[in-house]
Amino acid sequence: MNFLSARMKAVRPSPTVAISTLAQEMKAAGKDVIGLAAGEPDFDTPDNIKEAAKAAIDSGKTKYTAPDGMPELKRAIAAKFSRENGLDYGPQQISVAAGGKQILFNALMATLSPGDEVIIPAPYWVSYPDMVRIAGGTPVVVDAKFENNYKILPRDLKAAITSRTKWLIFNSPSNPTGAGYDAAALTALCKVLLQAPHVWIMSDDMYEHLSYPPFVFHSPAEVEPRLFPRTLTVNGVSKVYAMTGWRIGYAGGPEELIRAMRTLQSQSTSNPSSISQWAALEALNGPQDYIAQSRPIFQRRRDLVVELLNDIRGLSCPTPDGAFYVYPSIAGCIGKTTPGGKRIDTDADFATELLKSTGVAVVFGAAFGLSPNFRVSYATSDDLLSEACARIAQFCETLS
Ligand code: GLU
Repeated sequence: MNFLSARMKAVRPSPTVAISTLAQEMKAAGKDVIGLAAGEPDFDTPDNIKEAAKAAIDSGKTKYTAPDGMPELKRAIAAKFSRENGLDYGPQQISVAAGGKQILFNALMATLSPGDEVIIPAPYWVSYPDMVRIAGGTPVVVDAKFENNYKILPRDLKAAITSRTKWLIFNSPSNPTGAGYDAAALTALCKVLLQAPHVWIMSDDMYEHLSYPPFVFHSPAEVEPRLFPRTLTVNGVSKVYAMTGWRIGYAGGPEELIRAMRTLQSQSTSNPSSISQWAALEALNGPQDYIAQSRPIFQRRRDLVVELLNDIRGLSCPTPDGAFYVYPSIAGCIGKTTPGGKRIDTDADFATELLKSTGVAVVFGAAFGLSPNFRVSYATSDDLLSEACARIAQFCETLS
């Protein structure tokens, strides 16, 4: 259709959102579906946070706030960065938006011109390349190999940097692999970045608190303070406090960049929901026990799923350091045929047939830029995870 802009040619609908929505619809239609596609905690938002939101409504906190977040929340975010990451941002260096997605989008829109390149390690979260393209830039994908536990090496990063490189989008622990860069691995990447002063770092720290011992989370500007002036540190309340639907993401970064992001937001959505901002304030300033309580549960689920998947013929699943995803390779299933006569040539074929014949919804690896794989979000009960893995095992057994 000519009516649509040229820009739309560069964008596909988010596969994670599309598959999660399809699974929800199938479930609502009475189908026996186990959804392992949505990257969101199954837990409810903690009560203290819900109460803060109710109090905000009752006390009339229902008006516009500053477009990129109310001062109280910016102060709480600055305090969080200082307390947990050793990063000292002033309130004028903080931006709040409707989810981490809007933060990333604003930052890319504010900085990319045609021809600018953005380095994205693959497997990547599905929206990074599309956001770069919408903003007029060119994604430069660097493969993080299975053999290296889905982490890129310093030499890979170095080889990808050109004079047009504007950003590296860095995400640890990673969506979709759960791979985390420890202090040594991160320091090695930072060394390369120190040699390339024109490259900025967009660090997506969304899964910071979903880090499982012995892995310890670090953010780039924390391990290498010389990168602080050219780092945008992105985070949010969605994953850590089970608040995906509230839509609050935030970032700390250089004032000039934050100001440009505010300008964009003031001309697009204005402030994220005032009620959600009051809820996020309580999340950051209130009791933090939920984090300590939920982390071991996720870790137990990770161990369960990794063990069950590795027992399945044709699959191979590394143990991730964090997040709530695993990213098994299905190399052993490619080229095989289902009992119904459908050949599994790609991971998209695998995911489609799996959903059709077993009701288990996963996201195919091509969506994340590394195949043949699929992503499981294990943010659901042990029983459902065991049942889903049993169905995946049965599906793989019937391939010939
Ligand atoms: N980040 C989550 C995921 O990867 C939520 C869906 C999305 O926004 O992509 O599933």
